[in-house]
Amino acid sequence: MLTSEQMEKLRKAGRVSAEARDLGCELCVPGAKLYDIAEEVEGYIRKHGCGLAFPCNISINEIAAHYTPSPNDQSRLELGDVVKIDCGGFLDGFIGDTAATVEVGTRAYTDLILASKRARNTVAEFVGDGVPLCEIGSAIENSVKRDGFKVIENLCGHQIEQWDLHAGFSIPPYDSGDMTKVTAGMTFAVEPFATNGGGAVVNGKPGNIVVIARDHDVDDPKAQEFLEYVREEFHHQPFCARSCHMKDAEKHVRYLMRKGVLNGFAQLVEIKGGIVTQHEYTFHIPAPGARAEVTTLP
Ligand code: MN
Ligand code: MN
Repeated sequence: MLTSEQMEKLRKAGRVSAEARDLGCELCVPGAKLYDIAEEVEGYIRKHGCGLAFPCNISINEIAAHYTPSPNDQSRLELGDVVKIDCGGFLDGFIGDTAATVEVGTRAYTDLILASKRARNTVAEFVGDGVPLCEIGSAIENSVKRDGFKVIENLCGHQIEQWDLHAGFSIPPYDSGDMTKVTAGMTFAVEPFATNGGGAVVNGKPGNIVVIARDHDVDDPKAQEFLEYVREEFHHQPFCARSCHMKDAEKHVRYLMRKGVLNGFAQLVEIKGGIVTQHEYTFHIPAPGARAEVTTLP
């Protein structure tokens, strides 16, 4: 069980992450630079006393996740884009992870956007101490199906621990038969994805998000200095060159990837090129017998 002081940190990280998410959604207008949106979202998180639990993901249309702008990214949002903003901060290692979807200037995919939102909100209505993972999954699947769409089967919710964004169990968005229960003291993210495509993602182009895979020192003194900054700044959570306030970050990231210290994540693309929407909350079960609290409201 978290102490009340730890609980406050978890709640603050959640609140700041949620505010950053909503700010990101408001910035999704035709012509907006993806770089500027990511910098604003991450700047908000940092300005409010949190570290970055991972880079702000801005994934458009058939890209489900793992796109974040590079330092010199010139791409801009276009009218009709369906944009997932997924962001998160930490405070003393207590993490908020949250996402929402908006459509840029049009209303062609309102139902699809509502499908992932309803699925997440349905879970929020009943999840609490003792609920098995398979019940969370089947509630998500039933809700998305009822709305006439498919879930992305291979994108799951996940447990979260202090300093560990993807810890322990995962929560598939269907009835997996897994009777593991969420219990008091646990933190976890529920993040249904809905699509009008095939219902799965595959690896697409390489992305800009990396993580320390095998942490060892390197020969190049400047790259070593960069690695020490990364350890200190991101605490072994995923990051990207753009979020590093350090000279030659992209060059050092490439070097550390060649040395096997960093691993990159590919962009995740819908298997049939369908449009993808996502909504995510972080939950915490504060006490035995309690319902889960959403830490990333509103
Ligand atoms: Mn997320
Ligand atoms: Mn997540």
